[in-house]
Amino acid sequence: MAVAISFDSDHETIPLRDNHTSPGQLAQGEYGARAGVPRILDLLDRHGMTATFFMPAVAALARPDEAREYVARGHEVAAHGWIHERTTLLPEAAERDLTARSLDALERVCGVRPRGIRTPSWDFSAATLQILLDLGLEYDSSLMADDDPYELRSHGRDTGLVEIPVDWIRDDAPYFVMDRFGSARPYTSPRDVLGVWVDEFDSARADGGTFQLTLHPHVIGHRSRMTVLDELLGHVMSHGDVWCASHAAVADWVRGQITAPGE
Ligand SMILES: [Zn+2]
Repeated sequence: MAVAISFDSDHETIPLRDNHTSPGQLAQGEYGARAGVPRILDLLDRHGMTATFFMPAVAALARPDEAREYVARGHEVAAHGWIHERTTLLPEAAERDLTARSLDALERVCGVRPRGIRTPSWDFSAATLQILLDLGLEYDSSLMADDDPYELRSHGRDTGLVEIPVDWIRDDAPYFVMDRFGSARPYTSPRDVLGVWVDEFDSARADGGTFQLTLHPHVIGHRSRMTVLDELLGHVMSHGDVWCASHAAVADWVRGQITAPGE
């Protein structure tokens, strides 16, 4: 089976996108960079695991050393929008421009051009697929039509673009994030979440499938949550038949299983 762990290093980009610049809001994102990322990198090292970090361009430009550290430690850096924009609210030309500029910015900062993308908030417009194809991206990780990776089709044709599907079940945000001014306070015990993710992993392993996880440094990086992530990764790596890889490496493997477009 394949294990594809990902971290969306959004940091302050979500409040900044909405023009919220109060220190109180920015501090909640800043926590991801200050406290979360160092813990996460050490945890991955300890378990000998490779991960993918999806990073908005603004987050990488604000903290270029962090983005370069991901690469230096053997992880993948992939695209996650310009400033965590709401893709489906943008005209196509703006979505195309921001996506192209985000790839250029990450390449400038990291020295490696991103091969894949996770659209901000998994927000996928009617134009997104063609934009990703035109920009030469090799995989996307924003859609939810299967448990295991699949090939995206456009107007009835295979595109060669690999989808590494996500789901809210395997995302830390819906369990832990609360809106200060809203009524929703979906706080879930980290140990309950560990149970869900262990069951997801064990079932994927029984199927010979893929276990994909989406985490956020400003969400998972807190002490009680890192404790259960440590336990989860220990459980994952205790099995000898697990292949832990970047999303790009999983996409390469999938591409080897599918017929090239036009054949
Ligand atoms: Zn994000």
